[in-house]
Amino acid sequence: MFDACAKTYLCAVRKKNVILEDVLFTGYAAEGKAIARPEGKVLFVQGAVPGDVADVLLTKSKKDWAEGRIVKLKTPSPDRITPVCIHFGICGGCKWQMLPYEKQLEYKQQEVADIFRKIGKMKDPQILPIIGSEKIYQYRNKLEFTFSNKAFLPKEDFDAGIPKSQNVVGYHVPRLFDKVIDITECHLMDNRNNVIRNFIRELAHQNGWPFYDLKEHTGWLRNMMIRYATTGETMINIVVAYNNVEAQKRLTDELITRFPFITTLLFTVNNKLNDTIYDLEPQVVFGPGHIIEQLGDYRFKISPKSFFQTNTLQAEQLYNVVRDFAALKGNETVYDLYCGTGSIGIYLSNKAQKVIGVEAIEDAVKDARENAVLNGIKETEFYTGDVIKICDDAFFQKHGRPDVVILDPPRAGLHGKLIEKLLEIKPDRMVYVSCNVATQARDLELLSGLYEVGKLQPVDMFPHTHHIECVATLIKKGTV
Ligand code: SAH
Repeated sequence: MFDACAKTYLCAVRKKNVILEDVLFTGYAAEGKAIARPEGKVLFVQGAVPGDVADVLLTKSKKDWAEGRIVKLKTPSPDRITPVCIHFGICGGCKWQMLPYEKQLEYKQQEVADIFRKIGKMKDPQILPIIGSEKIYQYRNKLEFTFSNKAFLPKEDFDAGIPKSQNVVGYHVPRLFDKVIDITECHLMDNRNNVIRNFIRELAHQNGWPFYDLKEHTGWLRNMMIRYATTGETMINIVVAYNNVEAQKRLTDELITRFPFITTLLFTVNNKLNDTIYDLEPQVVFGPGHIIEQLGDYRFKISPKSFFQTNTLQAEQLYNVVRDFAALKGNETVYDLYCGTGSIGIYLSNKAQKVIGVEAIEDAVKDARENAVLNGIKETEFYTGDVIKICDDAFFQKHGRPDVVILDPPRAGLHGKLIEKLLEIKPDRMVYVSCNVATQARDLELLSGLYEVGKLQPVDMFPHTHHIECVATLIKKGTV
C-alpha cells in the first residue's frame, strides 16, 4: 500500500510527498469527500468516487484520519461519467459532475441518515426519499462573477507559458482569493449567463477597460451579477470601482440593444477593499431596478441585494413540503423565524390566521412587507432584529402564543437561547428548514425533551454540489 519511503502513517506524517498506492475508495463522507480505509485509518479525498482505485498524495495526516489528493487514477469507478463542463476539476462549483445524478441523491440520502444517527442520536431515523431537482443543469436563477487582471491557470497552461496577467471574468478559485478562473461556459444557469459575461469580457478588451486587481485594488470592472425570474425578467448588476460615465453609458447601450431579455440594469460603485455590496446603493440605469418572481400563487419582488432561493423550481417543492408539514387549518398564529424576504410566511399565509416574521436584515424585512402588499395579504407583520433579542416573552404576549413556528436559520443552526425560549413557549408544532443537516440534527436533539421528530424530508436544491436542504417537523409530545 505505502511506497518504499513510508511504511506507516506515522512515517508519512514526517515525510513530504508521501504517496499511498492503489487506494480503493469505498464510500462518501461529509462534504462530498470520498473515503478509503488503508490500514484502518480513514482517508478523505475530494474528487474521488467510491469504486476508484488511485494513488493518493497525502496532504494532511492526523492520528486517526488523513487527507490527500489523487495523483493517478489507476482504475476509475464504474460509476464515473464524463463531466459536462469544460471547467470541471478546476472550478470549485460543481464537484459531483462526474457522478450520475441518481448516485448523488443516493449519497445525499445516506449522509442525512448518518448525521441523524451520529449527531441527532436517533437509532433508526425515518427519512423520506430525497426530492431530486427536476432540472439538474440550468437550475440557478442567480450567478455572480468576478473580474480580475490575474488568471488562475491550470498546471498545463502554466507549463505551456500562458501568462497569468490577463483579464478574466469568472469564479474565484477555492481558497485563492486573488485568482479567478476565466469562465467561458457555466451550466448552472441557462445560456443567458454565458452570452452576457462573454460579451462584456470582449467589449472590455476592445475598449481597454481595466479589470480589477484584487491585491493592488486598482482597475474598474469588479463584479457582475445576473439574476432572472421564471416570469422572464432579467436583472444585471455591474459592480465597478469608480464612476466612469462614458464607459457606463457605452456598456448600457450595448447591453440593452443586443440583449432585449434584460429588463433591469444597474451599476454599483464599490471603492471598498472587500467585494460585499450590502452597504452600497445600486444605481438603476435601465428598467425598474428589480425583478418579479412567481412562486405558486404568489409574486415576489426581488431587489439586487435581496436574498431569494436560487433554485426557483426546487424552492416551490421545498415550500410545498413546509406547507404540508405545517398542517395548517386556517386558525393558527404562525411565526416565521429567520424569514428573509418573507417568502415562506407569505407562501403559507392563505392557510393561517396570522403570520409574524422575524429577520435580521432590514432590507429583507422591507421586501417582506412589500411582498405582503404585492400579494394582498393583510394578516402579516415583519420585524427586524436578532431572533434571540426580538422573541422574548413580551413579543409572544403581544402577538399571541405560536401554534406553529417555522425555523429557517443559517448554517450555524438555532442559537441556544432561542432553543430555551422555544422550550418555554412550547408551540404545538415546529417546521425546521435547514441548509446544514449537522446543526439541524444537533438542534433536534436539544429539543427532544419536549418534541418528537415527525417527518424528515431532504430536498436537493443544488445538484452536483454536496449541499443538502432538509425539512423536519417537530411535534409537541402528548399532542399526537
Ligand atoms: N426563509 C427565508 C430565508 C432563509 S435564509 C427563505 O426561504 O427565503 C436565513 C435568514 O436568516 C437570512 O435571511 C438571514 O439574514 C437571517 N438571519 C441570520 N441570523 C439571524 C438572526 N440571529 N436573527 C434573525 N435573522 C437571522
